[in-house]
Amino acid sequence: MPIATVNPATGETLEEFTAQSPDEVDRRIAGAAEAFRALRRTTFETRAEWMRATADILEHETDRIAATMTIEMGKTIGAAKAEATKCVRGMRYYADNAERLLADEPYAHPDKVGASSAYVTYQPLGPILAVMPWNFPLWQVVRFAAPALMVGNTGLLKHASNVPRTALYLDTLFTRGGFPEGSFATLLIGSSDVEQVLTDPRIRAATLTGSEPAGRSVAEIAGRHIKKTVLELGGSDPFVVMPSADLDKAAKVATTARCQNNGQSCIAAKRFIVHEDCYDEFAERFVAAMTALKVGDPMDEETDVGPLATESGRDDVEQLVADAVGKGAKVLCGGDTPDRPGWWYPPTVLADITPSMRMYAEEVFGPVAQLYRVGSLAEAVELANVTTFGLGANAWTRDGDEQAAFVRDLEAGMVTINGMVTSYPELPFGGVKNSGYGRELGAPGPKEFCNAKTVWIS
Ligand code: NAP
Repeated sequence: MPIATVNPATGETLEEFTAQSPDEVDRRIAGAAEAFRALRRTTFETRAEWMRATADILEHETDRIAATMTIEMGKTIGAAKAEATKCVRGMRYYADNAERLLADEPYAHPDKVGASSAYVTYQPLGPILAVMPWNFPLWQVVRFAAPALMVGNTGLLKHASNVPRTALYLDTLFTRGGFPEGSFATLLIGSSDVEQVLTDPRIRAATLTGSEPAGRSVAEIAGRHIKKTVLELGGSDPFVVMPSADLDKAAKVATTARCQNNGQSCIAAKRFIVHEDCYDEFAERFVAAMTALKVGDPMDEETDVGPLATESGRDDVEQLVADAVGKGAKVLCGGDTPDRPGWWYPPTVLADITPSMRMYAEEVFGPVAQLYRVGSLAEAVELANVTTFGLGANAWTRDGDEQAAFVRDLEAGMVTINGMVTSYPELPFGGVKNSGYGRELGAPGPKEFCNAKTVWIS
């Protein structure tokens, strides 16, 4: 994939970039290793000061970086500004809370292990490679970088090849906030160059947010070199609606949950599993809300849904829909690619999905919803758990026993009741099954790339 900025709303190539040379990559890895030696000895207070300054810069530049994201990957300008604002909040959260989250953990009975004092202290590991996707090109990076830098690690970013301008913005953002040169830098390289970086002994661990094949590849290479990984991969989140649910609200939230980020979110609800007693009512409201979405210029503040980010991504969505329709799925709205330049696809709802259709098992990365009818909670849970993914899950019911059953039985890293799965700096984020392992954010996030060092003192 060439490293280039291509406007997905028009298909026009705006700028092409040359990948950094092996020497330049080496220089940047050396810079991250050198910066680590300094950063690990700084105090939380100092790092928090730099992180707050970085947040202030980003806050001031929100409009500029939001426009860059919209031009590079087509998210609506409103969503892009909200993403930048969320990054500012995430940076401030870790500036304020990292020291508390990473405080030493004393063992209450040191005498039982023959010590006068015993505790666990959390120390940084070193330079971490972050392989990141284009769909939330700022937030995915910041949700790794803010806690990592507050821990005292340094970061090297290999961003997706279609968001180089955002990648270069991030290259200098943290040093502009005061972090030492080399603390966080971008490697402008293709995915075939990742192995070289990952196997470099100066790189201590890796995090990847992206597709399952990319995750498998990075984890395999890291495993061979005994390096820890965190994987945030794809999802096909269920959105279960039971008869006691507030159907108006569920249909409205379902529309946002499916079409946020033009349908390209790992935690977008993708499979809508509805009890037969409320199926018709829900379907009518949901299809009406999906049809009412305004599709258009992503730079227009009024637009709800912009183009898909890449031509190949749009092709994938088209093929998944064609496969389902060819095997008997019913199109309730959308389903036709508009004849215009750029990578457009309309909000679409399909019913009568069967296991023979690819989308039953695969992730659809675009604004296409699948509607399923079930006769019981048990059937809903079984269908929700049928895919190999296990990222998030949404369930709508006002019945306390049903809520408890969904929390217990849905195979997912995150379960949301009467709402939609969202990430918050304060709460852990991550999946199970083929959606990956490890957690970002919350209290576990910063500890993923720490040495939990046991200290025993006589
Ligand atoms: P992708 O193709 O896997 O790309 C993600 C990143 O991995 C890019 O930087 C890409 O570089 C790199 N990459 C691709 N193949 C690689 C390989 N074999 N070795 C090393 N690096 C490799 O994914 P995408 O299409 O950009 O993003 C969509 C996927 O990400 C979806 O499945 C979505 O659900 C998932 N996602 C998950 C989360 C989460 O938190 N769980 C969040 C967002 C997205 P190039 O661009 O140069 O190919």
